[in-house]
Amino acid sequence: MNNLFEGVLAFNGCDFKENRELFESIGRKQTPHTLFIGCSDSRIVPNLITKTMPGELFVIRNIANLIPPYRETDEYVSTTSAIEYAVQVLNVTNIVVCGHSNCGGCRLLLSDEDIKKTVPHTSRWMDLATNVKNKIVEAHIEDPIAREQATEQLNIVEQLSHLMTYPYIKERVESCTLNLLGWYYQIDTGDIYNYDIEKGQFVRIE
Ligand SMILES: [Zn+2]
Repeated sequence: MNNLFEGVLAFNGCDFKENRELFESIGRKQTPHTLFIGCSDSRIVPNLITKTMPGELFVIRNIANLIPPYRETDEYVSTTSAIEYAVQVLNVTNIVVCGHSNCGGCRLLLSDEDIKKTVPHTSRWMDLATNVKNKIVEAHIEDPIAREQATEQLNIVEQLSHLMTYPYIKERVESCTLNLLGWYYQIDTGDIYNYDIEKGQFVRIE
């Protein structure tokens, strides 16, 4: 725990001071250009991998970077609310759905029922990727690493399609005022792959 407090002091004494003007300028307003939807995984650090500063990314993180399809509901919906706020209030011009290698949520998708029973809410949440699971099972990919990567990448494409069920997102994409991007982050190499819709594949950003 001491590490956390020492980190706060280091931030105050160093990082904050170095960027004091920036922090003062964003003290009463935010104008992020991008909604970044990533996994909760501790290894995913949106500002680090995009080299962006506070105020640039509006961030949603949840297990396996999932996006519930659009629906009207009285429930308390975290991801849906954050999407709505980012697009309708903050007018972001990009949405990045960023999946990653070695994703525990995606692994759970293909796990045995007895493992799923130990995390019932997470398993239920992963139902948002049922289409992905079905396609992977049908594909019969034998190599476990290749299957893992295919699951994670297919999940990004699936979640992009969920975004398009939001009427206000569809409208903005069609009028070219909002870009949707699908990224795959390979943790151990630092490479990020961008989904090329025409090619139907992920292409390394270089
Ligand atoms: Zn993950």
